[in-house]
Amino acid sequence: MSLQIYIDGKWYPKEEAKISVFDHGLLYGDGVFEGIRSYGGLVFKLQEHLDRLWESAHTLMLEIPMTKKEMEKAIIETLRINQLLDAYIRAVVTRGVGDLGLDPAKCKKATCFIITDKITLYPESLYKKGLSIVTVPTVRNLPEAINPSIKSLNYLNNILAKIEAKNSGCVEALMLNHQGYVAECTGDNVFMIRKNGTADGKPLLLTPPIYLGALKGITRQAIVEIAAAKKLAFQERILTRHDLFNADEVFLTGTAAEVIPVVKIDGRKIGDGKPGPVTGSLLAAFHQLTKKSGVRYSL
Ligand code: PMP
Repeated sequence: MSLQIYIDGKWYPKEEAKISVFDHGLLYGDGVFEGIRSYGGLVFKLQEHLDRLWESAHTLMLEIPMTKKEMEKAIIETLRINQLLDAYIRAVVTRGVGDLGLDPAKCKKATCFIITDKITLYPESLYKKGLSIVTVPTVRNLPEAINPSIKSLNYLNNILAKIEAKNSGCVEALMLNHQGYVAECTGDNVFMIRKNGTADGKPLLLTPPIYLGALKGITRQAIVEIAAAKKLAFQERILTRHDLFNADEVFLTGTAAEVIPVVKIDGRKIGDGKPGPVTGSLLAAFHQLTKKSGVRYSL
């Protein structure tokens, strides 16, 4: 059976799942989305993803024509219909069908669709070897222009950065903000570790504050909580490329990537050039968490 896609209360085979060419999500990137994972029949951090979706929509004055509970039900039903226990879930809300003008008021009702599918992660070998990433010329969206905390359908800033990374032979880009400080990557938040970073010589985990121009990642937050449980010192700190180059470990976090080590940035080796022990223990703890927490469903 072909993959079934939820659109506005009904399910369609993937070949027939279509959106109007007058939908402002397509015409203007006017909409919001979430990427969510389920692990062994547990939807990870579903409430947090729904909250972020609603917050993004609120800022855009986009009214989602269903409740969070209804969206949760629709997600779980879509997983069931597609017989998926381990899945990547894409929930999208667009401004809806309007005319060729920008005016969102012409769009009478938002369009909601949900795609559930198998996930395509980075190959396992990259988790073992670590990523090589590159800083790109495209700066992260200015928060005063399009706040990167809004998870909107307008991803051109990230796509341009991704193109630049790929042109340089890398799969991921390090994005700086307009002041030259580290913001995030195209689809992931960034962390670094200094192995003797605390006053008493213990490891210190650092990540840039969100206001510098990053999405408030749900995996980022999970890692911060795991670090607290492990009594690993953590700070949000303004970071430069120099800080990352001289870190002992660097890793990225995101729903699709989970926790992936970075071993080279702009040709500079990070630490000893191999994925480090703190990253490894955080990834292991993250995997444990995905196995035991989440909204449970059965097929
Ligand atoms: N930054 C950007 C730009 C993203 O698109 C994402 C999500 N793919 C992230 C960070 C990570 O966020 P999360 O952990 O919530 O997936």
